[in-house]
Amino acid sequence: MINKETMSIISNYVDSLFPNAKCELFYNRDYELAIAVMLSAQTTDKAVNAVTYKLFNDFPSLKDLENASLEEIEERIKQLGLYKNKAKNIKGIVHKIITDFHGELPSDKDLLQTLPGIGNKSAGVIRIEVFKIPDLPVDTHIIRITNRLGIANSKDEPIDIEKKLKKLIPESNWIKTHHQLIHFGRYFCTARSPKCEECALRKYCKY
Ligand code: SF4
Repeated sequence: MINKETMSIISNYVDSLFPNAKCELFYNRDYELAIAVMLSAQTTDKAVNAVTYKLFNDFPSLKDLENASLEEIEERIKQLGLYKNKAKNIKGIVHKIITDFHGELPSDKDLLQTLPGIGNKSAGVIRIEVFKIPDLPVDTHIIRITNRLGIANSKDEPIDIEKKLKKLIPESNWIKTHHQLIHFGRYFCTARSPKCEECALRKYCKY
């Protein structure tokens, strides 16, 4: 386990590489982000954006999505894996926002997790993005990086890694570092060909 000083070096490095890192999911309305985050399970943001652009254009309001048939939604997201289940989740998310939350996305983490397909990580992403509430949700990139850098170990669940990172990083930097670690994993410390030769974190890395 690393200390706060080393974590600060890591945070500063990813900050220098990706100073403007931000969420790359396409959305215009708050509930659209919830749908996009749910759709992003086990696929890339790029693949999600390729289907949501048309989905959200064809059904531009919560009511339009509620009135859409399951088949109409499936047709627009069928390029994604698990699309049948994800289409059902879209219907479920929309129905719950309309009937239980008066058409507004809740900011409470537990309430967000009552939406179909939304777990702890997705709820954290929604809180960061829509409500600017500090959080540090852990995705597949952050799992890989934290294991390589000795912040986490292979037995850690995402929630364990989240707790470790929250202890090491000041709360005021949680949102920024969350985005920057994801960009570092997506574009630099990638799963198959990380740019180790040019990486300033080599001396901390176990990879
Ligand atoms: S040295 Fe390589 S594996 Fe380690 S953090 Fe840097 S890019 Fe990733």
